Amino acid sequence: LEWDYAPAPESAAIGRIRDRYRMYLDGDFVDGQGDDLTSVNPATEEPLATVSTASAADVDRAVTAARRAYEGPWSAMPAAERGKYLFRIARGIAERARELAVVETLDNGKPIKESRDVDVPTASAHFFYHAGWADKLAHAGLGPAPRPLGVVGQVIPWNFPLLMAAWKIAPALAAGNTVVLKPAETTPLTALVLAEILADAGLPDGVVNILPGAGDVGQALVRHPGIDKVAFTGSTEVGRQIQSALAGTGRALTLELGGKAANIVFDDAPLDQAVEGIVNGIFFNQGHVCCAGSRLLVQESVADEVLDKLRLRISTLRLGDPMDKNTDVGAVNSAEQLQRITELSATGDLEGAQRWTSPCPLPDRGYFFPPTVFSGVTQSMRIARDEIFGPVLSVLTFRTPDEAVAKANNTPYGLSAGVWTEKGSRILGMASALRAGVVWANTFNRFDPTAAFGGYRESGFGREGGRAGLAAYLRSDEGAQA
Ligand code: NAD
Repeated sequence: LEWDYAPAPESAAIGRIRDRYRMYLDGDFVDGQGDDLTSVNPATEEPLATVSTASAADVDRAVTAARRAYEGPWSAMPAAERGKYLFRIARGIAERARELAVVETLDNGKPIKESRDVDVPTASAHFFYHAGWADKLAHAGLGPAPRPLGVVGQVIPWNFPLLMAAWKIAPALAAGNTVVLKPAETTPLTALVLAEILADAGLPDGVVNILPGAGDVGQALVRHPGIDKVAFTGSTEVGRQIQSALAGTGRALTLELGGKAANIVFDDAPLDQAVEGIVNGIFFNQGHVCCAGSRLLVQESVADEVLDKLRLRISTLRLGDPMDKNTDVGAVNSAEQLQRITELSATGDLEGAQRWTSPCPLPDRGYFFPPTVFSGVTQSMRIARDEIFGPVLSVLTFRTPDEAVAKANNTPYGLSAGVWTEKGSRILGMASALRAGVVWANTFNRFDPTAAFGGYRESGFGREGGRAGLAAYLRSDEGAQA
């Protein structure tokens, strides 16, 4: 299948998407024993590629290979050498950036400008950042000789397929672990391109194994007795199942789960800037973001003005072909997710909120949902409580900072929040009062490998990124639970 967009001359080297992708096990690309899956382009509903999947026996083989690599070459290697592999991988991602961006957008539905400018460079940055840590672990303040955990089982979702793989693999390797990773069933392709980059970097066999498959493969992996730590990103429901399956096993666990973040706008905020942040907060990646600013809390005195500005701004967003570099809002990742967004947002109508929909035309085919804003939302409505994981914003108002905090914290989640105000003291006060792992001030959805990311309560536990993220892969662990 040739790239279905007008290529710039230098992109001729991108080549073709393969018809078939195989799993990466013990340094080889092999067919798994599971049933093949077909990856679908959500913007066209057409099949993209066939992907071989793993069986429970393949998981077992991968864990054995990862154990052998851990006990053999990977542990014997000086830490500085380990760092060199990570640098090579970072460079390999940068060298294949255009290809990765295209494959990600075709497989996931996200706008090409996001995969090009956010997903791929941030994935590379994670390997660069962690490469520098590999030989400096003794200086990380985690004890004089921090040791790896061993073999790590990692399961990731479909919303940032390459970036989540990088978030998981880079710190695990920097800390000296080996990995078996399962990508999400609707978006396995970029993880398998990453596997080629790992192989080209000369990573010893078995250090990383990438096994596509559905939830049953994830289940076999996280429950495998040969795994020393599980790192999971996905829904709170599956996170709960994994935590109870691991209870009493003594294995380490970190969970990055769902969210229902409040984006809080005070009346002294620079409102035009805040509107940009609100739009980015909920429409970036079609709202398929665990830390999406899906609840706008706006101070009553500026609520009408903010809503007017917001509708005007949203009306200019271009929805459509994710491969068009001018597209702002791409396709929803799957028919199933589209149905979930449709059903959950319908409860907003039933419960009395006022729906406003962007006037953008919808393409004739593909899974698309228009940017949607519900005003008049109360805290008891499902659209204020449940994670919709789509381009749907629920707007609530508040009068005082205390009321803003109370409403923001009125959720079982605790992943992220945003605060828009010109008062520095208010930012600090809100940051300590909000029960969220990440609080952004006058910005939203900013990701940086140097900063720890993660949640509290039903958003999970453990951190990814920064020194804390590294600690989650070491025995002198601060973040993981058994
Ligand atoms: P999901 O939980 O259905 O699936 C996530 C992954 O888990 C997939 O690879 C899936 O195949 C696998 N899986 C499914 N059942 C499993 C089981 N029983 N045992 C082991 N693995 C299993 O979630 P999703 O729909 O793919 O992703 C959306 C969710 O992920 C949202 O709730 C979102 O908030 C969350 N998320 C969180 C973060 C974060 O960093 N906190 C980041 C991205 C997404």
